[in-house]
Amino acid sequence: MLLRSTRLGAATLMAAAALVLPQSSPIASAAAPCTIGVTLRQGSRASGVWCLETTLRLRGYTGVVGPNPYFGATTTVAVQAFQQSAGLVADGIVGPQTAAALGIRRAVGTPVPPAVIEQRVIGTSVQGRDITAYRMGTPGGRVVLVVGVIHGDENKGALVAAELRTMPTPAGIDLWIVDSVNPDGQAMNTRQNANGVDLNRNFESGWSYIARGAHGQYSGEQPADQPESQAIENFIRLVQPSIGVWYHQDANVITTSGRRKAIPLRYSTLVGLGTGGVPCTQMCSGTATKFANTAVPQSTNFLVELPGSDQVTSEMMLMHARAVLDVITM
Ligand SMILES: [Zn+2]
Repeated sequence: MLLRSTRLGAATLMAAAALVLPQSSPIASAAAPCTIGVTLRQGSRASGVWCLETTLRLRGYTGVVGPNPYFGATTTVAVQAFQQSAGLVADGIVGPQTAAALGIRRAVGTPVPPAVIEQRVIGTSVQGRDITAYRMGTPGGRVVLVVGVIHGDENKGALVAAELRTMPTPAGIDLWIVDSVNPDGQAMNTRQNANGVDLNRNFESGWSYIARGAHGQYSGEQPADQPESQAIENFIRLVQPSIGVWYHQDANVITTSGRRKAIPLRYSTLVGLGTGGVPCTQMCSGTATKFANTAVPQSTNFLVELPGSDQVTSEMMLMHARAVLDVITM
């Protein structure tokens, strides 16, 4: 059964639910043998989805495709059918109430102690510098990506990235931290990479040509023709982050791009910066967040425009790191 719509009308829901109604099964009431770490919903990718889908199947919701780590439309339909039968709000979201009703334990409140469990070179810059991703938390959990620097002269996000490595990772989060996708620009203190390309205009989604010298936002000659953009594009395709936080300076604003606006909105509240757009003197085309939000359906990638470097303090960067660790569990 393939259902493409996430907004099911009542009639559609009832018809679909009829296909997944529980059948009597001797194991239907067996205790769930697994736990989930975060709230799950359509689009979630986490080991907890395997647990959820197994539990639904054990309860007779045989229309569920899986178990696998992806929460798709058939799982939403089964969750809604279960919620209806249990007298819960049939929103298809598996939060604490629905998990409890399903007999699934929520593994919350047990953060993973700070430790880098993997260090992966995901590519090399024009001048041969490594682009490195650090992994923390729970492999197989909800995938989160934090990118500290993409414009080389906007480098304070790297301090947030470094701060995150000293802090426990919330339960159920598979956290990847890339300090910088533009190490050459950082070394030269330039916005662009060593080829003079504004990497945040070079990504392939919605790319358009911006000439060299146009406010320093040269797009490159072709979509994703720079090794740095290729490295992070390939990495995103590989790990499929549900949430991505991308640091810039110094517009003092949080963008609400991506699927779930509640995530950047909460981040904005936690750090005391407003939400809005980033002023682009040229077209805001070929950006990393546009790419990530397109390459990973249902994902939420947004920009954090930190204040200017003269206003950034270590306390402020700690506050931002805490905000990351808060919103990635939403
Ligand atoms: Zn920037």
